[in-house]
Amino acid sequence: MEFDYFQLLKKARESAGKEVSGTKRFQMPVVNLEYQGRKTILRNFEEICEYLKRDKRLVARFLSRELASPAYEQGKFLIFQSNLQFTNVQKKLEKFVKEYVICKVCGQPDTKIVKERRIWFIKCEACGAKYPIEKI
Ligand SMILES: [Zn+2]
Repeated sequence: MEFDYFQLLKKARESAGKEVSGTKRFQMPVVNLEYQGRKTILRNFEEICEYLKRDKRLVARFLSRELASPAYEQGKFLIFQSNLQFTNVQKKLEKFVKEYVICKVCGQPDTKIVKERRIWFIKCEACGAKYPIEKI
């Protein structure tokens, strides 16, 4: 009984694994904004960072710099202290993904940022590529 159950589980895992590696699809996250007075709230900030597997502080710093707007984290949100247009925020997020998530060699999102001797690199777990990137 137990044996069958584990066999089943193993099979299920194997087929799930196949699907994942066979049709690995990356979906560009879409920013969810809300306005409060002169502030812009990025409501799915945490979700985006988790999906991209990137440090929240890093993403916050990048967006703040690129959008020329001070920002701070509040719970799951990132709050910009100015009114920002959806297209601008979305474009900057896509820039982040392009430069800091997607491998420039193979186009897969399975990468990590590694820091060596003050230099930052993208290391790709899919194809093994490693190349330097600009610090954020
Ligand atoms: Zn790669």
